[in-house]
Amino acid sequence: MSTPTTEVHNATLPQAAPASGAVTKQLIVQKFGGSSVADADGVKRVAARVVAAQQAGNEVVVVVSAMGDTTDELLDLAAEVTDSAPAREMDMLLSAGERISMALLAMAINKLGASAQSFTGSQAGMITDGIHGKARIIDVDPHRIRTALDKGNIAIVAGFQGMSRATHEITTLGRGGSDTTAVALAAALEADVCEIYTDVDGIFTADPRVVPSAQKIDTISSEEMLELAASGAKILHLRCVEYARRFGVPLHVRSSFSQHEGTWVIPSADDKITTQEGVALEQPIISGVAHDRSEAKVTVVGVPDIPGKAAAIFQVIADAHSNIDMIVQNVSTHGTGKTDISFTLPIVEGADALAALHAAQDQIGFEAIEYNEQIGKLSLIGAGMRSHPGVSATFFKALSDAGININMISTSEIRISVVTHADLLDEAVRVIHKAFGLDTESEVTVYGGTGR
Ligand code: ASP
Ligand code: MG
Repeated sequence: MSTPTTEVHNATLPQAAPASGAVTKQLIVQKFGGSSVADADGVKRVAARVVAAQQAGNEVVVVVSAMGDTTDELLDLAAEVTDSAPAREMDMLLSAGERISMALLAMAINKLGASAQSFTGSQAGMITDGIHGKARIIDVDPHRIRTALDKGNIAIVAGFQGMSRATHEITTLGRGGSDTTAVALAAALEADVCEIYTDVDGIFTADPRVVPSAQKIDTISSEEMLELAASGAKILHLRCVEYARRFGVPLHVRSSFSQHEGTWVIPSADDKITTQEGVALEQPIISGVAHDRSEAKVTVVGVPDIPGKAAAIFQVIADAHSNIDMIVQNVSTHGTGKTDISFTLPIVEGADALAALHAAQDQIGFEAIEYNEQIGKLSLIGAGMRSHPGVSATFFKALSDAGININMISTSEIRISVVTHADLLDEAVRVIHKAFGLDTESEVTVYGGTGR
């Protein structure tokens, strides 16, 4: 990779750029999500903000998502035309969304008297593997972006897309992938900071759309942010957090609708968060509650309780390219020699996984498969769990006091997750948020977006 693989920034809070008369010129990568550029006014508002960052003495690279719900609308459109769109054409279609916003933003910036040029993912040197719809970045060669900056331009890059070096085809990185584009560019350009602009003031202790009394987190370790993102917090793409952690890119998540300081995600190899003075920050025990409605539960009923059967089931699932999350195996029912194995996987992967399992039913010898999409997952995350006993006790008591039945449980060192009925999920999130003292008096401002 041409990215600075060995260099890891130290884990201190980066200094904000001086407002004027800057002595230290910073390279800032700014990413604006779909809700920030939802319409022409949004595009103009973002343009003004980008120009202000350049006028403050910085070099600015901007990554944009598709406007508003464009990606969903393009998906709906494709579904009206066919139920079996070729993956290559799907990527051609979806990558168009980001090209619309990049060109409009460049126009709006030029109108304000600054100069901007837009680039597609492939022009910006985002090289990916050839897997359509969920391509991975394998190299970033941002020389055209560097040249544009050297000439005094603001460089605008279409997020969420790249080009496969092997197939020469346009690829997309998977839903929410523009965050990852921004971080990959920031790493390759050795940017000082990657600012992720969204429609809330930062990362909150829970989704403010579900818990309006959630609080903004000022700094969070990339380790905790990884767990939050992996547990369904949609504010940052999981791969973006992984990438930022690996390459030591400081992330600043903030609102494009306000000037408030947002949340710093601090990448640090040893996970010790330090302030500018090198003083360890007081780690809160709990950093937040995440929830996820995108998974379904599969139960394989009547599996012979002998060695090798679980392996066979999960091999079938792996061959169907499904990502399994929680797994539970019951004690075998007395005298039957049979057991049930349940697991969760993304709803979008459900059909393929079920087909693969049914095809292997005789060979594995299980009795039946149950499939349930009416589930939700709640996760409580906090690095302080490692050293504070009693977190689980408080957690399960709160759910039981609220009469919320638990279907599945899983844990990591810094996370407890449970699966509940989908209808109870929002209530469960509020109950847990409250039980850990995370509620505030004030209501979070959600500036835009449909949450779709
Ligand atoms: N427009 C794409 C999506 O909606 C990528 C992104 O927004 O990051 O998933
Ligand atoms: Mg997004």
